Amino acid sequence: MGETIISTCSLSSGSSGNSIFVGCGGTNILIDAGRSAKAMTELLAEINMKIADISAIFITHEHIDHVSALKVLISRHKIPVYMVWESFDNLSDDYKSALGEVINFISPYDKSDINKNNINIGELSVECYATPHDSAASVGYVIRHNADNSRKAVGIATDIGHMTKEIIDSVCGCKVLYIESNHDLEMLRDSSYPEQIKQRIKSKHGHLSNAECAQSLPYFIQNGAEKIILYHLSGENNTKEIALNESKKSILSARLHAGTVYLGAAPKSSPSKMINLKIETDPKPVFNPLDPNSDRKVLHIQNISKKKSLEIPEIDIKNNNVSEGIV
Ligand SMILES: [Zn+2]
Ligand SMILES: [Zn+2]
Repeated sequence: MGETIISTCSLSSGSSGNSIFVGCGGTNILIDAGRSAKAMTELLAEINMKIADISAIFITHEHIDHVSALKVLISRHKIPVYMVWESFDNLSDDYKSALGEVINFISPYDKSDINKNNINIGELSVECYATPHDSAASVGYVIRHNADNSRKAVGIATDIGHMTKEIIDSVCGCKVLYIESNHDLEMLRDSSYPEQIKQRIKSKHGHLSNAECAQSLPYFIQNGAEKIILYHLSGENNTKEIALNESKKSILSARLHAGTVYLGAAPKSSPSKMINLKIETDPKPVFNPLDPNSDRKVLHIQNISKKKSLEIPEIDIKNNNVSEGIV
């Protein structure tokens, strides 16, 4: 049986800049490029990558903490960039002219056929979905391996004001999940931020609180999430300990029947630990009850044997990418 590895890590997280790396074989993509071009180059060097190795950049939305490096990076390297048209249209003119040669527009709106809004980049297949945020447009991403389109590998849900059915449906089933855990509600309430900013962060189109993030995690774990990385933590209104504790509490109190779950928080300005996800490149077909050729017997036995090995979850929060880098 053929196998390959999808590798992924956060390069940077939070209001000073966001970027996530996903690579497989010779295909390497970034989701957002929200630090300076110099910082992006240095962060990539820490995982032995160069800007020239990047096959494509996918943008969640046009806020500066997600697009900062684009103008300079693109003027030096003609890397294809994918974003929603409304996000592009809201960039400043210098960004727009720099992106002119490399821009590709994506749309999250056609859900009737997964292949219609899938972008294939080398070995990876990237799908976007709409998210609620106060930018001109905002999307999250789901990344699969081309040879295994039925299984979701990496899900990204950041800059989301609240959990929506679309987010839940889209990232449900992803093995690795980057999910926003932006602020602690009490820290935000007591912070020195102007009331208007506090309301913006808390709004349905602002940022996801620790509490809302934590509440959603048992469902994602129950549906196959094995590695969860809390993302876009606020430097002012959160700490990694508070965010991790809230999520851990929620996961353990759900008393799920699942295996070991890794829970970490993305460091603010250094790469998180690289996650390597094993992918079968010639997977068995997913059981389809409408297909008369499906081998129901074999699939049934596999399901039973899988259930036998279930354990009460353990959460590894001792890993070193949990304990450093976040302020
Ligand atoms: Zn934003
Ligand atoms: Zn942001």
